[in-house]
Amino acid sequence: MKNILNPKKVDEFRKLIEKSSRIVITCHMRPDGDAIGSSLGLCGVLRALGKEASVVVPDRAPRSLSFLPGIKEIAVYTQHDPYCARLISDADLIIMCDFNSHYRQGELAPLVEYADCKRILIDHHQEPDVKCDLSFSFSEMSSTCELVFRIIAACGWYQFVDYASSMALLTGLITDTQNFTVNCNDPEIYEIMMRLLEKGADKNRIVDEAIKASSLSALKLSSFAILERLEVLREHRCAVITLSKKDLDEFDYEKGDTEGLVNVPLRIRGIVSSIFLREDPDCIKVSCRSKFDYPVSQICKDLFNGGGHLMAAGGEFKGTLEECRQILLEHIGDYDRYLPQKLDKLEIK
Ligand code: 5GP
Ligand code: MN
Repeated sequence: MKNILNPKKVDEFRKLIEKSSRIVITCHMRPDGDAIGSSLGLCGVLRALGKEASVVVPDRAPRSLSFLPGIKEIAVYTQHDPYCARLISDADLIIMCDFNSHYRQGELAPLVEYADCKRILIDHHQEPDVKCDLSFSFSEMSSTCELVFRIIAACGWYQFVDYASSMALLTGLITDTQNFTVNCNDPEIYEIMMRLLEKGADKNRIVDEAIKASSLSALKLSSFAILERLEVLREHRCAVITLSKKDLDEFDYEKGDTEGLVNVPLRIRGIVSSIFLREDPDCIKVSCRSKFDYPVSQICKDLFNGGGHLMAAGGEFKGTLEECRQILLEHIGDYDRYLPQKLDKLEIK
C-alpha cells in the first residue's frame, strides 16, 4: 500500500495511544455507517492493545447498523448523558472520527471541544475546523474507515484487527462508497477490503443489512417520495424531494428510513444533482448528492449551514419546509456555472 501518512504523525499517534489508558472515541450526530464503523473498528483495536476504550456518540445509530458486533455497548449521549459525560471527563485521550467541525456533534460538542485531555482527529471531510493535538484529515479518502485502517496498518497493529473490527471497518467502506459505486477508483481500497475479509468480515451480510434491508413502511415511503414528492428543476438539472412531517408520520417514519433515498433521482439521465429536504423535529435536514464534480458541498455551506464532500453533502435549515424549498429555488441558478458543458438529454418523460 502507498505510504500516504506522514510517518512522524503515525509515530505521534502511536505514542499518544501508548501513553493513554482511558480513551474515548466519538463521531458526528445522526451517525452513519462510516461514523459508527470507524469508531467501533478503532475501539476494538485499542481494546486489543489493552486500553480501556469506549465509543460515545451524540445520538443513536440507525436500525440498519444494529447487526454490528459491539453496537449495543456504545454510549449514547441522548440516552445516558451523565454516563457519557463521565466517560469524557475521565478520558485521557479523545479520538474524533468522521467530522470536520465541532457543531456536528450537537449537544455533545462542548463536552468534547472543551475536554481537558489530548484530542486526535481522524476524518475525510473538506476544511477541517476542529481543535485537536493531532489530525489525520484526507478529503480524498473514500471513508474515515479507510483512513482508520491505514493508520492501524501503519502502526503495525493489523494483527489486532479481529472479526468485530473487520465488520465495523468494512461497513464504513461499503456505506460511504455506496457499495463501491462512488469514490471507489483507488485500487487500494480493494486491497483494504481484502485485508478485512481475511479477518472474517462478512461482506454479504454488511450489504444486506446496511445497504439493502428496509422495513415495508420505509420502502413505501421511498416509493411515495419518488412518485409524489419529487420535482425536477429542468434548467438546473436538479431533482428535489421534499418530505413533510405529515408525510413521514403517514409512513411511521423511523430514523434511517430515508437513508439512500437521495441517491435515487441521480439515476435519471441528465440529472446532475439531487437534493432531499426532510422536516425533522428540530430542523429541515438537507441531504445532497451530485455527479460531474457539481459542488453540492458549496450549496450546503452557502444556503444550509452545512458542508460535507463535493458530491455528497448535507446541512440543516431552521425554518419551515416551504421556506427551505424557496431558498433552494431562489439560489440554485447561482450554481448553474458548475454544470458540465455537455449534458445528457434529460430523460424525464
Ligand atoms: P448525508 O446526506 O448522508 O446525511 O450526508 C452526506 C455527507 O454530508 C456526509 O459526509 C456528512 O458528513 C455531510 N453532512 C451531512 N449533514 C451535514 C451537516 O449538517 N453539516 C455538515 N457540515 N456536513 C454534513
Ligand atoms: Mn464518512
